[in-house]
Order: sequence, then structure tokens, then C-alpha cells
Amino acid sequence: MKVLITGGAGFIGSHLAEALLARGDTVHVIDDLSTGSIANIAHLKPFDRFHYTIDTVMNGPVLAELVDYADVIYHLAAAVGVRLVVESPVRTIETNLRGTEVVLEMASKKRKKVFIASTSEVYGKSTDQPFREDGDLVIGAPHKGRWSYACSKAIDEFLGLAYWKERKLPVIIVRFFNTVGPRQTGRYGMVLPTFVRQALAGQPITVYGDGTQSRCFTYVSDVVDAVIRLAGKEEVVGQVFNIGGNEEITIADLAQRVKVITGSDSEIVYVPYAEAYEEGFEDMPRRVPDITRIQQAIGYNPSLGIDQIIQRVVEYHRTR
Ligand code: UDP
Repeated sequence: MKVLITGGAGFIGSHLAEALLARGDTVHVIDDLSTGSIANIAHLKPFDRFHYTIDTVMNGPVLAELVDYADVIYHLAAAVGVRLVVESPVRTIETNLRGTEVVLEMASKKRKKVFIASTSEVYGKSTDQPFREDGDLVIGAPHKGRWSYACSKAIDEFLGLAYWKERKLPVIIVRFFNTVGPRQTGRYGMVLPTFVRQALAGQPITVYGDGTQSRCFTYVSDVVDAVIRLAGKEEVVGQVFNIGGNEEITIADLAQRVKVITGSDSEIVYVPYAEAYEEGFEDMPRRVPDITRIQQAIGYNPSLGIDQIIQRVVEYHRTR
């Protein structure tokens, strides 16, 4: 297979590139390095089946050529990280909307299968937990910058499904829950790399809010494996899938486990949301996926528990 990965120099994209190369595919990555980095793909350069282009997916002529060459497109290029979203809403909305528009338009012209990376953020403030793919999306008010991410990714999903319905373009959508692992940076707000870095440096571990908010973390290789298996199944085309972990943990407990696993004597401090992000910031108090659909489709089951996940992330940060 010849594959194109948009955002392939990012955290999940670079792991996907690695896994596809390992199974013998030819991989072309396009990334504008806005949040991805060359360091993430440096180890892939020796493969003669690996190619990359540093550019934005919004550059139509460049993208057209890459789409032409590929059998399947994994569209992962997007604005990532709650901190980045809150600080740069224009960039978030434009990247998510225009980027996906261009990818779908080009893929439709050439009749290429497209895999769209969406996010659990689209469930927004829904309290109908665990989140099912056919559940309502409850997105907050537009003056709260955070929800621009959910809303723009939800439009990406609508557009992708519209291309499938109206033009029979084979589209698969996945909603990533909190995915973690090596190469993820805390720079854009992600909690686990931030806690691990703080713990290893002996700095205070910063829990935002009261720490009772919960998440289900998944190790990146479980996510990538699921993505590849879904892409290979004809019968899942036109569907949306949650990909997430099945072990719920509060952020206060996560801080405590990171402290224990690193053997750190860092203090755990509580930072109000208004200070961490912006005045009036709304968090998702709980985010748990229903993974029945993906279990039925590909027999998905996350292989690592939270302690093993933390251990691997700690090992990665220790070797850096
Ligand atoms: N968080 C935290 N301290 C940090 C970074 C994040 O307590 O230094 C919290 C954040 O407010 C959220 C959770 O950890 O409740 C997960 O945050 P992340 O940005 O990793 O992902 P999200 O689930 O918000 O998309």
C-alpha cells in the first residue's frame, strides 16, 4: 500500500508512519511542523519507502499530487492541545476546517479512501456517559474558546460523512480519546507528559481544578493498531468509532501515580482553571468512551493498563 499521512510528523502521526512502514507500506508524510517536529520522524528517514513534505495541507496543488500518489489517506493534521486551542482559536478553526475541506475535495476527485482523525472533545459537555458514537454532541457557548476545537472537528465529521453519503467517497472517522506515549509533548497542555516532566524535574505537579475530573488514557500503539485494522475493513466505511481506554482515572489520582512511579518528591499543587487557561474556562468533568462498536468491528481491546502506560512514558522522558 502507498499511504499519505497528513500531520505525520506529529505525535500520533509519527507512530502511525512507523507502524505502516514496519508492515511494508510506502509512506508519505505531509506536515507543516506547527506542532509536529522533524525529530519525530528522523528515525524513519533511512527507509527508502519513507518520504516527507514540509507544507500545509491547505496547499492544494501540493496536496493534489500527494493524494494522487496514495491508495489511502490518513488525515491527522489538526490543531491539537487545549492550551493551543484556547490561545490560538483562529488557527484552530482555520486548520481544522480548511485542512479537512481540501483533503476531502482532493480525495473525492481521485476516489481515495480517507481516514479522518476526530476527537472525544466533540462530545463536549454531554453527560450521557459512557459516550456512544450515536450520542448527542453538547458543545458550549462560542465565546468559550475551548469549544471551537470540538465544533470544528464536529464539522469535519459532518463533511466527511456527507462526502460518503452524497458522493460515495469511502470515509472512516475515529474519535481519539486521551492518547499518550513517547513523543507527546506537554507544550500544548497535555497532562501526562506535563506531570512526568514535572515529577522528574522535582517541580510541583500542577493539577488543574480540584482534580476530580476523569479521563481514560490509551497507549499510542494500541490506538495506531486499531486505526490500521479499521482502515483494512471495507464494512466499516461511513462509520464513526471511539478509540479509547477502558480504565477511568481522576487527574488527582494520575498525579499521585506519576509521583509514586517516578519516585519523585514533587509536591502536588492545585491550580484554578482560570489561572491555568482563561477566565470562565469549562473543563469536561468526565470523559469515558463506550468502545462496544470498535470491539465488535475489530476485536479492539487496549493492551496496557494505566500504570504500564505511565511507566513507558516515564522511561521515554528519562532517556531524553
Ligand atoms: N490538566 C492538569 N494539569 C496539567 C495539564 C492538564 O490538571 O498540567 C488537566 C486538564 O485540565 C484536564 C485533564 O488534565 O482536566 C486532561 O487534559 P489534557 O489537556 O491532557 O486533555 P483533555 O482531556 O483536556 O483534552
